[in-house]
Amino acid sequence: MERIYFQAGPTTLPKEVMNRAKSEWDDFKETGLNIMEHSHRGTTYEEIHEQAKTLMRKLLDIPQTHDVLFLQGGASLQFAMLPMNLLSPGKTAKYVLTGSWSEKAFKEAAKIGPSEAVVSGKDTKYRTLPEMNYEPSDQDAYLHITSNNTIFGTQWPDLDAFSHPNLVADMSSDIMSKPFNVSNYALIYAGAQKNLGPAGVTAVIIRKDLLKENESLPSILSYQVHAKNRSLYNTPPVYSIYLLNLVLQWIEEQGGVKELEVKNKKKAEIIYNAIDSSDGFYKGYATPESRSHMNITFTLSDPELEKRFIKESEESGIFGLKGHRSVGGFRASIYNAVPEKSCQKLAEFMLHFQGKYG
Ligand code: PMP
Repeated sequence: MERIYFQAGPTTLPKEVMNRAKSEWDDFKETGLNIMEHSHRGTTYEEIHEQAKTLMRKLLDIPQTHDVLFLQGGASLQFAMLPMNLLSPGKTAKYVLTGSWSEKAFKEAAKIGPSEAVVSGKDTKYRTLPEMNYEPSDQDAYLHITSNNTIFGTQWPDLDAFSHPNLVADMSSDIMSKPFNVSNYALIYAGAQKNLGPAGVTAVIIRKDLLKENESLPSILSYQVHAKNRSLYNTPPVYSIYLLNLVLQWIEEQGGVKELEVKNKKKAEIIYNAIDSSDGFYKGYATPESRSHMNITFTLSDPELEKRFIKESEESGIFGLKGHRSVGGFRASIYNAVPEKSCQKLAEFMLHFQGKYG
């Protein structure tokens, strides 16, 4: 039986990407080596490194005012690196709290310097995105948002709606899922393991005026050092970047982020419809106006049935639905690589399950 997966990440990569990687496994471009066996200083790898950056730029329409970096340490390292680089004396780092990941980002910043949560959705248990009524201040080092809240299943609907001179976004779980205006942002970061490729590489898009030399910062933690060295300051995660490059090519073949936005919306609708037309058998966790197109969170009106739901979904070939432990219930993560037919299959299973136990 074909298995389909809805994991929150790492998760499935596009089939075409996996097949291409397989075909190049032991002989990349007639070199007799896998790409991961090549030196990161050699032209064979360098071509991929630069191609991936160029493709990132093209797909997100990144202006020349911004640099693209490939770093390691996941989005979690960015929680710390961001304030280490951008929080200067006399300034405060400002955070919008919309879930566990933004809370973590905020806590890390507070270890580095003055930090403040200025808007929070915590009182709704992060079911609803808070009203963005924050007025920027001269004291702000930056304003940090999380574009998609992987655990709670909420997502800011319009990434162009925020206004701050130094807007920073953690886009780990929805980058490349829809177009937005990069020039509106001072810095964007995203761990790759959802929409960009495998774990191991983190994409950072940074406005160039923020690349300042800082003697007191360890080199490996400095954006300026990485930018100056074209993300080759130390050995990059060669294989992760190779796969990232293949994923970016796949996105281009899909018609780019504009086309993916249409597909993602349709996919999300299929599953939200299954929830909304269930007469309360299934309950969405996020309130409708805050719903994510990437992570769909829901519970069962009868929690006694939860174990059965997981067991029977797996028997039907559907995996990865267990919700995050802090929310419970279920979560269907439908990143770019999840095809519409998988969403249909899940919706059919949900209907079937409801017919049996509802
Ligand atoms: N931010 C968001 C929005 C995430 O979804 C995750 C991972 N699920 C992280 C940060 C942490 O990423 P990493 O494990 O790459 O550090």
